[in-house]
Amino acid sequence: MVVVPGLSESLCAVGKRIIRFDITETLLSVEATSSVRRANCPRCSRGSSRRHGQYWRQLRAQPCMGRSVILYVQVRRFKCLNPQCPQATFVEPIEDLAPAKHRRTVGFSGASCAIAQALGGSAAARLSAARYEEVVRLRAQGLTFKAIGRVTELDQRTVKNFVRAGEYPERSPRGSGPMLLDAYRHHLCRRVAEGGTNITTVWQELRAQGFTGSRGTVRLAMARAYAVSSSTDPAGRPGRRAPTPSVQRAYAWLVGWDERGNQVPKGAEHRQFVDALCAIEPEIAEASSLACEFLGLIHRRDVDRFDGWLARAQDSKSSELRRFAGGLTADLSAVRAAFQSPWSSGQVEGQINRLKFLKRQMYGRANLDLLRARVLHPN
Ligand SMILES: [Zn+2]
Repeated sequence: MVVVPGLSESLCAVGKRIIRFDITETLLSVEATSSVRRANCPRCSRGSSRRHGQYWRQLRAQPCMGRSVILYVQVRRFKCLNPQCPQATFVEPIEDLAPAKHRRTVGFSGASCAIAQALGGSAAARLSAARYEEVVRLRAQGLTFKAIGRVTELDQRTVKNFVRAGEYPERSPRGSGPMLLDAYRHHLCRRVAEGGTNITTVWQELRAQGFTGSRGTVRLAMARAYAVSSSTDPAGRPGRRAPTPSVQRAYAWLVGWDERGNQVPKGAEHRQFVDALCAIEPEIAEASSLACEFLGLIHRRDVDRFDGWLARAQDSKSSELRRFAGGLTADLSAVRAAFQSPWSSGQVEGQINRLKFLKRQMYGRANLDLLRARVLHPN
């Protein structure tokens, strides 16, 4: 997580925490929730922690990186507990950020605009690209690395790297693994062709040659190389790059399960990929099989076999599955009831669709509290 100081500090000073941001060509929007649990009544100064609702304030901050900046700040309202005080409720003060009724923030400059680059994905990539452009522009104006670092609040070394790179040092959109591996791909493919299936061994060999990536990167690359080498395609060049699947796609390939409880057929290439992955990493094979089985049990409401499944999941090599099984165990009676309950999930699905619609209507900016308000009080 990369946090540019400035805005996050200004927000923090008034008890706010950035929970998400979005960046487009022209707009940077930042959403911050309140972490204030207690505030003093402005009339009688008595402290109160009795919450009495909340609302959102929309504030315009100074432009940053050529974009308008809008903050959505959650503000909590408290009930004054002093029976003598004429003030029934009051809101937490955020004067240091923006005085009451003001629509603009005070106190921080455009350059010290701060975004939690927490969410990754395209928004973070666009933000990084924008910062790179800013660095290049300032360098062209003759600023030193140090000065640029001060203005952009980037580390000096990052500034230096940006400038020397000559272009935006773009990461592979699906992770940087394959690029790290490029120099070692020949060795990896040779080992795969020789039948060397031990990932750790190959990983250590690559590390000895200077590879700095993770075992997971090697695992994935080996799975790809296997899939390609076992391909019937005579032109199947070893080491051909296949894109890393997204989480959703990996789910579809490994577990693939549609709404009617059928396993979704996989294409030949996907089948190869999955088989290769399962062959070299038994943990994934086990997780895939347990996940499919669980979905089947749910679908058939087969509570009798559930206990056996749970025992195997608790013994699984996969920590995620063990955690999942632990969660189910902690709530066992409810889980059993869910297996046997005649209730349809139709009502729930309807509400979920409505939630999605509301969230889209609010341009994806809705957080839980805001959604709750809109769902419970539609008007
Ligand atoms: Zn009071």
